[in-house]
Amino acid sequence: MKRSAPRDNNPKPAPAALSDFRFDFRAAARKAVKDHPEIKKNTVFVDAANDDYIAAPRVFEALEDDDDAREELEQTVRTAKRLKTSFSDTIALDSKRYLKSVVFHQDRHPLYDATNRAIDNIGTFDHETGHVLSPETDGTLSENTADAYAVIRHVQRFDGTDTGIGYTSWKRTVQFILAGKTSHLTTFTVDKILMDRESADFVSLTPAATAKIAKEYARLHTPDEERLKKLSRAFRGARDKKLNEETFRRIAGITLRAEATSDTFYLGARALLGPLENGNKIVYNGKTVSLKSDDWARVKSALTQKISTLPDSHPLKNPCLQP
Ligand SMILES: [Zn+2]
Repeated sequence: MKRSAPRDNNPKPAPAALSDFRFDFRAAARKAVKDHPEIKKNTVFVDAANDDYIAAPRVFEALEDDDDAREELEQTVRTAKRLKTSFSDTIALDSKRYLKSVVFHQDRHPLYDATNRAIDNIGTFDHETGHVLSPETDGTLSENTADAYAVIRHVQRFDGTDTGIGYTSWKRTVQFILAGKTSHLTTFTVDKILMDRESADFVSLTPAATAKIAKEYARLHTPDEERLKKLSRAFRGARDKKLNEETFRRIAGITLRAEATSDTFYLGARALLGPLENGNKIVYNGKTVSLKSDDWARVKSALTQKISTLPDSHPLKNPCLQP
């Protein structure tokens, strides 16, 4: 995956190499609770692959006393192992009390970093923690809030290092187009955070402020129901079981017909520039998709021409967003 260009001429002293970063589930869970003490009283963290449960004694007691709650959590852990994915759930104890769970499993395919598993794992862990921190949200807003938290934490964790986090919104875009489901369409929010990463000083935020700002970004940049429906309709012709050159061809047709200022053009261009800015190939769910036709140069120049008409503040004008 291509990394974005260095962002300034005075980079901070080189941080430890990204390849040295290790994901430690227990340490991550301990830190999440230390950062956000309010979640300690009702949150259980589970490393599904290792059946490792971490929670305060009172949370374990609540689970011991409630067979249904325990069974519900164990069922989620089994599903996480089977599907190789992670979850955050709300488990009702009675009409008033509930527990929150972070059930972590390394994903089958990466989302927060295309090649570095440890960085992808901490992104997944932060996303699920983001859900625990925003129990008042649901639907697409809830996924945007969780991704906003994960991406701001990513920026804080890897401050000054050029990571491949732009892959996240590229992949969220492509997954939306393929499935036609808007529940995890977080591109608008994630891109805005990445565009602001230099000016917003995310690194100096306290943990409480981090959670708060993540909610703000999601609230301001999650498209409303009508925009989501419109996008879903616009890309109906590109829905597909798998991603291949033909899918990209259909996305190109839809995108080049759309107004440059529209959501449709933004997302379509975001999807297409992934491979087009990367030697006409990109890795998606473990498979390299190559764009072989001679026509792609024409598509790229048509996209570039339309993008040139957009204001400089538009995400498509921002070089740090390329995957
Ligand atoms: Zn989620």
